[in-house]
Amino acid sequence: MDTSTSRPISVAIVGGGIAGLSLAAGLVKQRHLNVHVYEAASAYEDVGAGLALHRNALEAMALIGPEVRQAYINKALSLTSEEEEMIATNVYMAHGPHAGTLVAELGKAKGRKSVSRADLLEGLLALIPKDCISFGKRLCKIRPYSGEARRICLKFSDGSAATVDCVLGADGVHSRVRTYLLGADHPAAAPKNHDRWQIYRTLVSSDFARQRIAEEYTRTVPIMLGPRGHVNCIPLNKGKRLSAGIAIRGVAPVPGDGDDDNQAPPLDPAEYTDYHPAAQNIISMIADDPSASWRALDHDPAPYYTRGRISIFGDAAHTALPFAGNGAGQALEDAAMLNRLFQGVRKLDDINIALATYNCARIERTQKVVELSRKFGRVYAFAEPGIGDDVDKIRAFLDEAGEFMNMYDVKGDIERAFVTLSAIKLERDTKTEGLADANSLKKPDSQD
Ligand SMILES: Cc1cc2nc3c(=O)[nH]c(=O)nc-3n(C[C@H](O)[C@H](O)[C@H](O)COP(=O)(O)OP(=O)(O)OC[C@H]3O[C@@H](n4cnc5c(N)ncnc54)[C@H](O)[C@@H]3O)c2cc1C
Repeated sequence: MDTSTSRPISVAIVGGGIAGLSLAAGLVKQRHLNVHVYEAASAYEDVGAGLALHRNALEAMALIGPEVRQAYINKALSLTSEEEEMIATNVYMAHGPHAGTLVAELGKAKGRKSVSRADLLEGLLALIPKDCISFGKRLCKIRPYSGEARRICLKFSDGSAATVDCVLGADGVHSRVRTYLLGADHPAAAPKNHDRWQIYRTLVSSDFARQRIAEEYTRTVPIMLGPRGHVNCIPLNKGKRLSAGIAIRGVAPVPGDGDDDNQAPPLDPAEYTDYHPAAQNIISMIADDPSASWRALDHDPAPYYTRGRISIFGDAAHTALPFAGNGAGQALEDAAMLNRLFQGVRKLDDINIALATYNCARIERTQKVVELSRKFGRVYAFAEPGIGDDVDKIRAFLDEAGEFMNMYDVKGDIERAFVTLSAIKLERDTKTEGLADANSLKKPDSQD
């Protein structure tokens, strides 16, 4: 089959979250592509908690385009009211003989920012032409490679359909595209909650919080560690609001239909009387607001992210527990990689090569981040063998893991992958031209 095409190559991005929209913002600038985002929701909801994006995430955004990074800058808000104020993630022991000890000050910097997911999505959306995105389109079925042109058919729950050359699944933790790629029976298809994590969270005004908890915990980012769960506060909206949460390990689900992420026993402060008093105050404030609780899910490693012209990226490929705060960062790194590789796609065959290259370049790092995020959870609960509640070992782990996640050479890896893509295409084209030459040389012989 001749896979060269005179029409633009059509790319469907399924899911318009951070991964889908940031990639779309890059691909819509590539004239040889016809990109469309299919998003299930009819509008974005603000789920409250702010995202902290680290150095790797900001570099990835800048590589997709300066306007993508600018969209973040326009929407991000300082954690505190003073731009110049130094702010760090302060990790404390909240339990045991070292309760109250400061373990580590992570990411100490002036004017640290967070961004609400809904605000960031709004900023990214403004970079995508309106006719390149459809809302209320929930993918329910994929039918591969039908017809002469071997195009892929997508069916949506509203009964509509689309036919495209390439599908990039950014449809999050419960990804349909992942289930299709791995097969519904594959053990890594559905997300898991191995350690039975349950998160409880409240969003309050900082003025209210100051009546309940020590003032210092309303203007820093404390993480307080203990064996049954860790407590975390994040100031938001220039210090006007506070998000306070506890992630508890080993919570038995409340009997229900089994499918509801929100089925959780109520948070009981009486179970934390052996925690440091500062942590107890925060837990009691969270317990007063039963409105937000969810199970924390992640993915067991998928054996591949790509099959043919279909691929997954972002949380669809590698959802991590939120304890390391790098899920969006990994989604943005994926998007930056795919955006660059698609610059080398000119015909249908090139898509297979680009997506196979993406798979090889990203699978090891992203799955290491998923594993590290699990380890963060165990370390925070003093449950990691060899580390336990040893303050020095916890500090050493945090330093090493932070370095791996945030100080990554995003551009270097992307350019190396692009060179690989170019080399594979060159080898293929040389072989094809060689065959053509051989055929033309053969012709006179065969006429003899
Ligand atoms: C409490 C919490 C705090 C976090 N904090 C941080 C942080 O500080 N820093 C960080 O880097 N990361 C953080 N993360 C992780 C981060 O939020 C995610 O990794 C990131 O949002 C993933 O983006 P995504 O686009 O891949 O997936 P999603 O944001 O889940 O987007 C998927 C999109 O696909 C759509 N969709 C789903 N199914 C379909 C379908 N069948 N058809 C069409 N569309 C569909 C959904 O509606 C959604 O819009 C945190 C996560 C949590 C839960």
